[in-house]
Amino acid sequence: MMMVIWLRNLRRLLKPPEKNCRVQYKDMFTCTRCGLCCKNINRIPELKEYNNGNGTCVHLREDNLCDIYADRPDICNVEKMFELKYKNYMSKDEYYRLNEEGCKLLRAEKA
Ligand code: SF4
Repeated sequence: MMMVIWLRNLRRLLKPPEKNCRVQYKDMFTCTRCGLCCKNINRIPELKEYNNGNGTCVHLREDNLCDIYADRPDICNVEKMFELKYKNYMSKDEYYRLNEEGCKLLRAEKA
């Protein structure tokens, strides 16, 4: 989904992907549907109006899917954000890898 938001500070984390990483670089960003990105929107100005007060998006369903997926904000759309903001600054492969690094950071914070 929206891990685009972490990109601004993630270049420092660039490193080769782990051997068994689930992300299929060069193909697409693979979301594991853990829901953590949608439960940590308190640091995302673009999603201020979606915050239920504890950092979780009001549109996140109990099954960790988005109830407005087809019409979700651009910031939540990995593919669209690449086209809109990042394609002139990095390859898609690098972009996907940075998104995965964002996922890892969130999982580490919650572990
Ligand atoms: S709008 Fe949908 S994709 Fe975006 S944070 Fe909310 S639940 Fe997640």
